[in-house]
Amino acid sequence: MSQSKPKILLIYTGGTIGMVKDFKTGVLRAFDFKTLLEKIPELQLLDCNIDTVSFKEPIDSSNMNMEYWIQIAEIIELNYNEFDGFVVLHGSDTMSYTASALSFMLENLAKPVVFTGSQLPIGDLRTDAKENLITSIQVASLQTEGKPTIKEVCLYFEYKLYRANRTTKINAEHFQAFASLNYPDLAESGVHLKINNKFLFKPDLEKRLIVHKKLDENIALIKLFPGITNLVIESVFNTPNLKAVIIETYGAGNCTTEKWFIDILKKTISKGIYIINITQCSGGSVMMGHYETSNELKKIGVISGKDITTEAALGKLMYLLGQNISDKLFKITYEDSLRGEMT
Ligand code: ASP
Repeated sequence: MSQSKPKILLIYTGGTIGMVKDFKTGVLRAFDFKTLLEKIPELQLLDCNIDTVSFKEPIDSSNMNMEYWIQIAEIIELNYNEFDGFVVLHGSDTMSYTASALSFMLENLAKPVVFTGSQLPIGDLRTDAKENLITSIQVASLQTEGKPTIKEVCLYFEYKLYRANRTTKINAEHFQAFASLNYPDLAESGVHLKINNKFLFKPDLEKRLIVHKKLDENIALIKLFPGITNLVIESVFNTPNLKAVIIETYGAGNCTTEKWFIDILKKTISKGIYIINITQCSGGSVMMGHYETSNELKKIGVISGKDITTEAALGKLMYLLGQNISDKLFKITYEDSLRGEMT
C-alpha cells in the first residue's frame, strides 16, 4: 500500500473557471495557474500534492476541437505513471463533448480524470469555481487500498459527480449546469462526500492504458423536425467523404414514414455510410421497432444509439471510425456499451 500523498495533475485548458475579474476595468482575463496555491490557500488543506499544467493559450471551450482533445489525452498519457489522478479545467459550454470523447480515447483507464469548470470566474465574489475545483481535486485523490477509487472520466459540477459520457449541459445560468438523465450520480458532496460505489465503472485492471488519437471527423448530425425537407437531408447526406450520420429522432427513436425519407436512408446505407439513431429527448432510450414509425429503420440497418447522449454519440463515432473496423463489427460495437455510455 502506498504511504505517500496522492499526486494530482491539474490541466487548465481555459474557460470561465480560470478567469479573474480586473476590479478596475471589470474585464475578465486568464489567471496564472502557477500561482494557484497562493490564490486558493484552501487547496493546501487537501491531503494531496498538486502540480499544474496549462494550455499555452487557454481557450474558450466554444473553440474546442479534436486537436485539443488529443492534446489533453497526450498530457494524461505522458503523466499517467507519475500521477494518481487528473483534473481538467474546461469551459462548461462544450465540456460534455470533450469529456465524452476522452472517455473513448482513454481505453483501460484505471485512474480518475475529473472534468470541471464554473459558471462564475474564480475571482468573483459569489463564484462556484472554488467549490468545483476543491471537490474535484478531492475526488481525484480518493484512494481505496492504495489505489484510485475512481477509474473513469467523470465530470464534477455543483456538488455532483457524474459519469462524463452521460452528461449534457442543461443550463446557461444556474450553478447546476449539468445533468445525467440516464445514469445515477457517481457521488454527491454534502456534509459528507458520498460515493455511490456500485455505479462506478470497473475497468479490467490487468489491461494497460491505450490512448487512441486517431479520430475521424467525417460525420454529420441532423435533428429531425416536422417539415424538414428532402433538400436539407440530401445536402447533408451528399457531403463529400461522409462516413456516418447521427440522426436525432423523436421520442423512442421515431421518424416520418414518408417514402422519400426512408429511400434516402436506404440509398445512403447502401453506399456504406453508417446511420445512427439517437433520441432528441434528454432522457430515455431509442427502441427501434417499438412503433411502426421506427420499424423500417430497424429493417434497413440503422444503428441504435439506445440511451446515449448526443455528446457521447459523436465522440464514440469519431473514435470508432478511427479504428477502421469492418461494417458488420461496426454496428455490433457501436450498439455495445464501451465505457458505460449506454445502458
Ligand atoms: N464560454 C465559456 C466556455 O465554455 C463558458 C464557461 O467556461 O463556462 O469556455
